[in-house]
Amino acid sequence: MLKHRRSRLKPFFEEHRLDAILITNLANIRYLCGFSGSDGVLLLAREEAWFLCDSRYTTQAADEVRGAEVREYSAKYEAICSLISDKKIRRFGFEATHMLVSDFRQLSERLAGCELVGLGAALDSIRSCKDKHEIEALGRVAALASASLGAVLASLAPGIRESDIALELEIEIRRRGADARAFDFIVASGERGAMPHGKASDKVLRTGELVTIDFGAVKDGYHSDETVTVAVGRPSARGREIHDIVRQAHDRAVAAVRPGISCRDLDAVARDYIREQGYDSYFGHGLGHGVGLEIHEKPVVSPRGDAVVEEGMVFTIEPGIYVPGFGGVRIEDTVAVTADGCVILTQAPKDLILS
Ligand code: ZN
Ligand code: ZN
Repeated sequence: MLKHRRSRLKPFFEEHRLDAILITNLANIRYLCGFSGSDGVLLLAREEAWFLCDSRYTTQAADEVRGAEVREYSAKYEAICSLISDKKIRRFGFEATHMLVSDFRQLSERLAGCELVGLGAALDSIRSCKDKHEIEALGRVAALASASLGAVLASLAPGIRESDIALELEIEIRRRGADARAFDFIVASGERGAMPHGKASDKVLRTGELVTIDFGAVKDGYHSDETVTVAVGRPSARGREIHDIVRQAHDRAVAAVRPGISCRDLDAVARDYIREQGYDSYFGHGLGHGVGLEIHEKPVVSPRGDAVVEEGMVFTIEPGIYVPGFGGVRIEDTVAVTADGCVILTQAPKDLILS
């Protein structure tokens, strides 16, 4: 499994004529060697690999790390630099979209004879296509989160605070075995629904309002991401209209997912429909994003998404309409691309009215 994952780095070694690649992004470290802690670096040469960590993680690393020699350091960048010098590495790549400028300076000052090659966001695309085990893990965490929402929605009523819904949902997710919430939940009711990322506040729900709930869980490193918009009591005609449009846009995009379509064209399926209904200026964000070891990862599904959809990719489909002064609707599912379409991993019903 790790061999297959690491083989995805081969084009970077070839294209940039690298002796090694220094991995500092923890999600990529976990993906490439199995370490799940919160500090450490992985140095991958063409035939060898080393994982470096401090004494807090030596035991954990010995247990988790595969396919790399574990070394303990007391000073991180000194250790990295002396390893690079010892191994006569002359030219190595680093994750230019993750490394701090101060860390880069340490490396380049200490390794004056070395060439450091910044590898851009393309390196994160190595995680875009998930293997069978990853899709199973993503399916499990999505099911757990969706079921948790089902348990919480029953208590949704006028007078309840947004923040209490977020709290109850987090408790339910943890109770059902998740390691953590995937992000600060969005619970945005009434006019606050016009904020696509309106974090749960102290506002109480009122009859007739729409409530957008965007939530997810993390288990075994994998995330889930899902949004429902529900009505508290009877929704207004306008609320129903907007929900219908977003639902249609969502359903059309889900139906269009298949290998070979570009992420840009997939975005357009939903965006064009919303435009035809006259709401395009109220849908500012992209249609979706990859989900995996990070909550937001490759591919980007937006008008600027130049990736092509491939079997094994897992990403969200999340169109929305946000009308200032009125409120908003977003409907989000996470899908896994199959040979001829997709399966929807997230399971909460996307109906507006609770029954
Ligand atoms: Zn979301
Ligand atoms: Zn999302």
